[in-house]
Amino acid sequence: AKEAGRNRYQFHSEDMTSSATDRLSLERELRGAIEREEIFTVYQPQIELTTGQVIGVEALMRWQHPRLGLVSPADFIPVAEDNGLILSLGERIMRDSCLQARRWCDDHGVGSVAVNVSAVQFRQKNFTDVVLSVVAETGLRPECLELEVTESVVMRGVESAVHKLRTLGAQGIKIAIDDFGTGYSSLSYLRQFSVNRLKIDKSFIHDLPDKDAEAIVCAIVTMGRSLSLRVIAEGVETEAQEKFLQNVECNESQGYLYAKPMVASELEAWLTRWSS
Ligand code: C2E
Ligand code: CA
Ligand code: CA
Ligand code: CA
Repeated sequence: AKEAGRNRYQFHSEDMTSSATDRLSLERELRGAIEREEIFTVYQPQIELTTGQVIGVEALMRWQHPRLGLVSPADFIPVAEDNGLILSLGERIMRDSCLQARRWCDDHGVGSVAVNVSAVQFRQKNFTDVVLSVVAETGLRPECLELEVTESVVMRGVESAVHKLRTLGAQGIKIAIDDFGTGYSSLSYLRQFSVNRLKIDKSFIHDLPDKDAEAIVCAIVTMGRSLSLRVIAEGVETEAQEKFLQNVECNESQGYLYAKPMVASELEAWLTRWSS
């Protein structure tokens, strides 16, 4: 057993060395990427399940590297968080999204644009000022901006989190809890946070149909309803998953079943097709 334990450790430490090198080169590349403007935003529609209307879009970051190809945000966002680049990247995607959403709200009746917020951004003392000045500068109605934060982000520094979210909420900005069900939110906190939406993590949707996943999805929808929160499911890929969500009266749905994340011009064409 000891032998096996040692081997495991050696394997693990080799693993860490190579990933540390990867991270270093990724960090160097990332700084260049921002200068070369290789980072851009894609948008994925969010559908109201009873009407089929597009009630919003989620903004997601993409990095098109000339040699590496499309680098996943799951790989480069942790690097950008470590070196602080996420602050300027995060502000930029928020500004782009607000500018685009102004047109979509007017021309296509899209209700809101949802922007992911990293823990590093949220922890900044001036986070609310940054958000409010982006909204003011872009002229988007604050009700049309939704911030997606994860449970762990808000639960970590509960007092200042409550304060920040309340300040933003008081200005009309919407808050969604992302990856809901994977963290440890307490119900009483959810009420204090002035949260508007729960986003059921896609791992539960992926597992449908399955007894446990069904029970969890159902419990989240019921809880959301009793707290007057809207509930959206992410990662919806099949008609069977959609049907289940409709049956339990989940409000909204997002996933490849409707559309992949698209650049702004593609989204506009998609919106026109969807509503005709
Ligand atoms: P997330 O916020 O939970 O985003 C959902 C992910 O699911 C996205 O991956 C999206 O493209 C993908 N997705 C959408 N529909 C489906 C589907 O039907 N099936 C499956 N299997 N996946 C689907 P993506 O774009 O690769 O982003 C991964 C994560 O990177 C995001 O997870 C988020 O945590 C982070 N991220 C992306 N953009 C940003 C950003 O601008 N700021 C921050 N802070 N994080 C971001
Ligand atoms: Ca998200
Ligand atoms: Ca999510
Ligand atoms: Ca996630």
